[in-house]
Amino acid sequence: MKKQLSSKMNSVSFAMWVEKCSPYCIKDNVLILLSKNELTKTQISTLYAEDFSNALKSCNSVLSEVCIITEDEKDAFENDRQTDLNKENSFKDNAIKKYNFDSFVVAPCNTFAFNAARAVAEAPGSSFNPLFIYGGVGLGKTHLLLSIYNYVKTNFPQMKVLYANSETFVNDLIDSIRNSKDALLSRAFRDKYRNLDVFILDDVQFLSNKDSTQEALFHTFNELHQQGKQIIFSSDRAPKDIVYLEERLSSRFSWGLVVDIQPPDVETRIAILRKKALSQNFVVDDSVLKFIAEKSNSNVRELESILQRVKLYCSLINKPADSLEIAKEALKDFLSDSLERVTIDSIVNTVCNYFGVNKADVIGKKKTKDLVEPRQIAMFLITDILTVPLASIGNYFSGRDHTTIMHARDKVFTEMKTNTKLKLQISDLKDMIMNK
Ligand code: ADP
Ligand code: MG
Repeated sequence: MKKQLSSKMNSVSFAMWVEKCSPYCIKDNVLILLSKNELTKTQISTLYAEDFSNALKSCNSVLSEVCIITEDEKDAFENDRQTDLNKENSFKDNAIKKYNFDSFVVAPCNTFAFNAARAVAEAPGSSFNPLFIYGGVGLGKTHLLLSIYNYVKTNFPQMKVLYANSETFVNDLIDSIRNSKDALLSRAFRDKYRNLDVFILDDVQFLSNKDSTQEALFHTFNELHQQGKQIIFSSDRAPKDIVYLEERLSSRFSWGLVVDIQPPDVETRIAILRKKALSQNFVVDDSVLKFIAEKSNSNVRELESILQRVKLYCSLINKPADSLEIAKEALKDFLSDSLERVTIDSIVNTVCNYFGVNKADVIGKKKTKDLVEPRQIAMFLITDILTVPLASIGNYFSGRDHTTIMHARDKVFTEMKTNTKLKLQISDLKDMIMNK
């Protein structure tokens, strides 16, 4: 399980939280972890609940839940385990409940997906079916899916709704195949997945290249869809871009509505941070939020963990998060200081070296193909890595208009989705730029 988690979390968080917990016991299919202190417990429950339960599920299909107790709570736990487990703040409930439509920040990058998710939650089976939401890591897909789950649970208590990630789906299927001699057990798979009013399947890109799973999903899909049951999928890319996905599945994924979530811009990142801070009663100055939003990339999960670091730092030194200095201090080892040294010029230098082209030409006006490509890639990378006004980038490139920069950015961004070579080049270049 640790191994699973270490692949999902950054090393600092891993050392800070996971290493501070130890398995305590298993009771009623719940894994009880013992944490050294309250802070570790809260951190894990608020930030990594999902990672923990996913890791658990993928290692051990018998255990389905994680519960964390602190040293102080051990005795009480022993004495009254039952009430403890039923406590309202049971790990899983807590973890899932925080994902709802109200806690989601709606912005231009996700309005379409948000509205579609809401429409589906309000009238399961009768609006878009299936609903397919796709977008990059940490952009809120799972958040929207669980919001649908929670909404349906609350507002249509008679409906059977299931949220599963694709790993669980695969594991359940493997279990059912393994136990296929036992008719009852393989029926368990059918009962679980086909006897539903709302079926939510997260991260279907993991089903690529898994033939038997695709087969099972195909039949599950058909059965539910024919009965007008609502199906919702998420993936990190559009159906047509999932490699090795059977054509018949990918076409079914697109039957209803396919919506994407784009990365949040700086304004949206600030709004998200503000909401997160507020929900944790963490008083933090706008300048700090702005700093974090500008220094981080677009992954909202990453954004949250940076905010968490600032919060922790402030609580350790017992000072409010009221100034830029505090934020800088809190994050000085964390945000690679290389970021400070990355400039428009350094990005262009790296791109020119990479493609072996002359810098003056790339900045200049010539429009030959061998120059246009590196130029557009450089423009894209600058908008992606730095937070500088498009007009300033235009100025740097011989006074081009800001719309030219916008066009280059969008072009590269779109092309990356289908052009694997370009995608690799971009990721190589990013590494080179950041690790200088
Ligand atoms: P994905 O499933 O797309 O990888 P998640 O839904 O797990 O991403 O989101 C990662 C984290 O970021 C979650 O804690 C989620 O609550 C938060 N998050 C993402 N987008 C938003 C948003 N628009 N508003 C509020 N929180 C968000
Ligand atoms: Mg997700």
